[in-house]
Amino acid sequence: MTTRLITSLQQRLHQLEVRGLRRRRRTTDSPCAPQVQVDGHTKLAFCSNDYLGLAAHPQVIAALREGASRYGAGSGASHLISGHSRAHALLEERLAEFMAPDIEAARTLTFCTGYLANLAILSALTDRDTDLFCEQLNHASLIDGARLSRASVQVYPHGAVDQLAVMLAASRSPGKMVVTDSVFSMDGDLAPLAALLALCEQHDAWLLVDDAHGFGVLGQHGRGALEHAGIRSQRLIYMGTLGKAAGVGGAFVAAHESVIEWLLQRARPYIYSTATPPALAHALLTSIDLIAGTEGVHRRTHLRNLIGEFRSGLQLQHWHCLLSETPIQPVIIGGNDETMAAAASLYERGYWVGAIRPPTVPVGTGRLRITLSAAHSRDEVAQLVGAFNGLQA
Ligand SMILES: *Cc1c(COP(=O)(O)O)cnc(C)c1O
Repeated sequence: MTTRLITSLQQRLHQLEVRGLRRRRRTTDSPCAPQVQVDGHTKLAFCSNDYLGLAAHPQVIAALREGASRYGAGSGASHLISGHSRAHALLEERLAEFMAPDIEAARTLTFCTGYLANLAILSALTDRDTDLFCEQLNHASLIDGARLSRASVQVYPHGAVDQLAVMLAASRSPGKMVVTDSVFSMDGDLAPLAALLALCEQHDAWLLVDDAHGFGVLGQHGRGALEHAGIRSQRLIYMGTLGKAAGVGGAFVAAHESVIEWLLQRARPYIYSTATPPALAHALLTSIDLIAGTEGVHRRTHLRNLIGEFRSGLQLQHWHCLLSETPIQPVIIGGNDETMAAAASLYERGYWVGAIRPPTVPVGTGRLRITLSAAHSRDEVAQLVGAFNGLQA
């Protein structure tokens, strides 16, 4: 006899299936790279966030091995107990030095994931007396962090600096924070960071920037959205992730040293979670060197060229592409079933692209999310463009 609890879950799962919302995973047997072994077939993948192609970079892999032989497999405890290794300490210092041009008195703190870093910032730096101003298209981790914070939340429409200005002017709270993705993860466009910072200066608010998709990718030196926007301030709280362009895993917050010290003292997602394996931090030192060095410059140039070639190659009269200058290139399809069908036809032709449906994106805006990487060749991008154009014919 199945219990009522299980039956009820089974009914809800069936509803997801009927509405075209059931999600399924594919299993890979090769490193994250353009050519992947997935569910027993070779496909050309355009769906990872490995924007610089560092996830399978020989030097990063070698550093991970070296880190494991030096520090072992696991950290064994949270940072405040005994899990904070020399590798973590060096990574914090390296990241602080790297981000110093964009943040005054920069210090950094590393986290297991970007999701946890966002929960940490929002829960530790805001309270019931804070007004949070959240961009409409913010990532789920920022939304969840806002819920956890107990602050009062106001959502401003996508990119609407004018409306945000009105909302800030009306706020009587002693604490204010504006919260935004820098690169919107499902649309690929950029937040107007300079205008947002100007408003925050005017209204004495924090500006939390989630640069998951900008770190390593944007800016001449790869420092991300702040470098790209040319802004610098004490009120910036910068969250960068290390599992996307940096190719490994984890995240960091860069901010004024007092902000970081407060997170270290008070942020529960930092305090009550086991530190990442030190080998990851050790490997990340190599990733940051690659991002910051000439190889990073070359990889970003190649990536920018691929973005240009993808956009100019696609027969735009046939496709509803969002205007994006980042490696995230969404093609809007519409309904859930149509989106899945378009992804399936590309998959049959040998191309693996992301199919994104609600609740990740608004109802009726199901889309293919194509992500480009410096690991792709021009020829591979040309093949994808050919497949797209053929799909329509
Ligand atoms: C991926 C992502 C995160 C979460 O980072 P993880 O390290 O994967 O947990 C946070 N914000 C945005 C905008 C993201 O795209």
